[in-house]
Amino acid sequence: MQYNWNIIGHKDSLEMLEQGIKSGKLAHAYLFVGPARIGKFKVARLFANILQCPNNFCEKCPVCLQSQANAYLDTTVVNTLYIEGQNEDLVEISHRTNIDQSHRMEKPTAKTDQITVKDMEVVLARLSKTATSNYKICCIKNIERMTKGAANAILKALEEPSGNTVFIFTANDLTQILPTIISRMRIINFHNLSEEELEVELIKKGFYTANDKEKLHSAIFLGQGRPGEILRLLRNEEVWEKYKRLFGQIEKFFDEPFLTHKFKIAEELSKNKEEASLFLEFMLYLLRDKMKKSQSVAAQKELKDLIKKTVESQHLVSINVNARLLLEDLALASLPK
Ligand SMILES: [Zn+2]
Repeated sequence: MQYNWNIIGHKDSLEMLEQGIKSGKLAHAYLFVGPARIGKFKVARLFANILQCPNNFCEKCPVCLQSQANAYLDTTVVNTLYIEGQNEDLVEISHRTNIDQSHRMEKPTAKTDQITVKDMEVVLARLSKTATSNYKICCIKNIERMTKGAANAILKALEEPSGNTVFIFTANDLTQILPTIISRMRIINFHNLSEEELEVELIKKGFYTANDKEKLHSAIFLGQGRPGEILRLLRNEEVWEKYKRLFGQIEKFFDEPFLTHKFKIAEELSKNKEEASLFLEFMLYLLRDKMKKSQSVAAQKELKDLIKKTVESQHLVSINVNARLLLEDLALASLPK
């Protein structure tokens, strides 16, 4: 590969993006799809930086330095948003999101990370300003977060693409997104990396030595094949312990024959939204793994239904629907038929 991606894995996806740059055939809109936290948004930002820098992301010129500080005017980035009581540190937020957040602090204050019509208005106003570079780029993370109104606003922008605007969006699951939006974007798929691929890459890049393979294997499993997550686990004992505990709870959640015991786990988990979301993520990972290994058609159908339900619950938890009820519902659905 020609460009300075500095990313573990995702070779096929990166090559597709490079082909677009080299052939001069960029899409007006990209949608990076794949499991959460495998580096989609990191690639989105890098892709934007490569397009903006006159030297393909040299990391030295003023454009690169501003891009890396998330302060380049022609690149609009929407990642974490201001949420009352949950995410209020504006300096911290500015490293991730560079649109003005003041409208989210006016009454009524934003209480979820949903992307609203008002957020989209701020994004589109920023994009309409005169560009100094070749492109106006807009990266938005997890577009499942868009309200209906926001999705319609973006649809309008996609229907009337202006010459030099490039949208780069990410999504964990296509089922939550309007088909009319999907049809207007170039879809790039991202996958969990295989265990072998990760082992080779992590050792090659010097993140881990071949001597302690047992810990490396556990980290790859608990990190669900996500490079960033695996590194976080290897560096942080507290995270390591938390993940081990949550995985234990999932095993119990599946194996436990009594509904009351499953409900008990649901109750415990729902006390902490972050843990409930992580639990659902792990659950999805295990269900997809079971699905891959399953031979029976009936079992596959059951797993498919359960996966669909889990994805829906993930979305609902993210917009603050009562996690306990959702987990209890999953407990019911996961009972042996
Ligand atoms: Zn540069």
